[in-house]
Amino acid sequence: AKVRSPNSMAIFKGKMRQLVEENAGLEHDLYNAINDNQLFLVYQPIVSTESSRIVAVEALLRWHHPTKGILAPDQFIRMAEQSGTIVEIGRWVVSNALRDLLLMRASHKDLADLRVNVNISVEQFRGDRVDTIVVAALRDNGLTGEALCVEITESSLMKDLNVADDQLQKLRRRGVRVALDDFGTEYSSLAYLRNLPVDCLKIDRSFVEPLGSGMSVADTLVAAIIGIGMGLEMEIVAEGVESSRQLTRLAELGCGEVQGYFYSRPVPAQKLAGLVKKLKDL
Ligand code: C2E
Ligand code: CA
Ligand code: CA
Ligand code: CA
Repeated sequence: AKVRSPNSMAIFKGKMRQLVEENAGLEHDLYNAINDNQLFLVYQPIVSTESSRIVAVEALLRWHHPTKGILAPDQFIRMAEQSGTIVEIGRWVVSNALRDLLLMRASHKDLADLRVNVNISVEQFRGDRVDTIVVAALRDNGLTGEALCVEITESSLMKDLNVADDQLQKLRRRGVRVALDDFGTEYSSLAYLRNLPVDCLKIDRSFVEPLGSGMSVADTLVAAIIGIGMGLEMEIVAEGVESSRQLTRLAELGCGEVQGYFYSRPVPAQKLAGLVKKLKDL
């Protein structure tokens, strides 16, 4: 192996320090982000393969950082989870997503029964009473539980089921749906699935990507996931649908709902009514 000269080591250490300081700076900025109105939500439609109508939207978080521009969640959510800020952020997401839902429902007659999906980190169940804050936010907006679906990643739910289970059960009793996000990406025991408090499986994008490309393994896997979901009477949503080829194959395989760039990238709440018209002309 190549031996580093003292000089390159110094540069390396300097770079490391810079990285650590940058991250500490970002963490500090995140504390102010909520109060300074730097967070905002965009919404991606979830479309029924049967009716081709928008049945739900997924709320996706963005941070308009004062100097770095618009940051995607991959650039700050992990940090927020580690520092605990995710609790505050999560509360903000739930209440703003429900408020925006009222706006979206009112913006077009075809959106009158629209549902909103929000992503919840397992750290929120540990640091907060998600059921309590959700019920309060629903009441504040005059909404019932059917208006909301909470998305939880498979790996985090498995790791901490006892923490989340009671809160999820309480939410489900109110009609709130629970979706298992990124399904298929972690080792999941199929027997376990039967006992999870889950109404919906979201097939990860990595399975959807090769669909219908003549790679029959991909089709077999997706068909199997859909079969499992149907057997357990769960809704199936495919993520990351980018082409009509994938959409056609998913519909053939019996997938009920799809989400992805093929229909739309995530958009601000005010733009959703415009999408309804666009999808009708598709
Ligand atoms: P996710 O929940 O799996 O969300 C789907 C991600 O895939 C989103 O990225 C979305 O913009 C992107 N996507 C949607 N359709 C397509 C497609 O057709 N092709 C491709 N290549 N990508 C597509 P985004 O918005 O950057 O979010 C990344 C992750 O950050 C989310 O993954 C979710 O785990 C997390 N996240 C987002 N918002 C929140 C939030 O409010 N709270 C928490 N705790 N996590 C969030
Ligand atoms: Ca999600
Ligand atoms: Ca996902
Ligand atoms: Ca993901």
